[in-house]
Amino acid sequence: MQIIKYPHPTLRYKSKPLKRVDRELKEMIAEMFDLMYTHDGLGLAANQVDLPYRVFVMNVKDESGDGQERVFINPVISRKSGQAEESEGCLSFPEIYAPVRRPERIVVSAYGLDGREFSYAMDGLYARAVQHEVDHLDGVLFIDRLSPANQLAIREDLDDLVREFESSRRLGAIAGDEEIAARLAGLESVRT
Ligand code: ZN
Repeated sequence: MQIIKYPHPTLRYKSKPLKRVDRELKEMIAEMFDLMYTHDGLGLAANQVDLPYRVFVMNVKDESGDGQERVFINPVISRKSGQAEESEGCLSFPEIYAPVRRPERIVVSAYGLDGREFSYAMDGLYARAVQHEVDHLDGVLFIDRLSPANQLAIREDLDDLVREFESSRRLGAIAGDEEIAARLAGLESVRT
């Protein structure tokens, strides 16, 4: 398992709700946490590891700084309020940061690995991170939410990522679009 980078097509995949959580999926989720920690990420969505599932992982820290690992299966955001603009980055866009405007406060509900529903009222950093991760599950990326001026400001960095992607593909390190689509459809049919 590895983190895929822009413009890998799986980052544009809109995942369907998960219906089945089996042992293999639990193992994949454990690997996602490992990858998230290795790369110092705040959260990691399934699309970012080339999986078509509606799940993301996050380590949610409370005010005392104690972290709690949370798996968000089929997350739904409600009760958005306020507006804030802060710099955002993404493990699929290494070293690219840009300001994104989003609601400041949200409520997120999801299912955990134990099948129980939970919900969090969040603001600030975690509200932003959860919205960023849920966007991933819909195939939406933070660069889609930038102002035209900020889009222009990172354009060359994005072009560099596109060139890297194309050269990896030429070397055979990344499959073709049709092969990727077939693989995602196969994985999806098992659990959604
Ligand atoms: Zn991201």
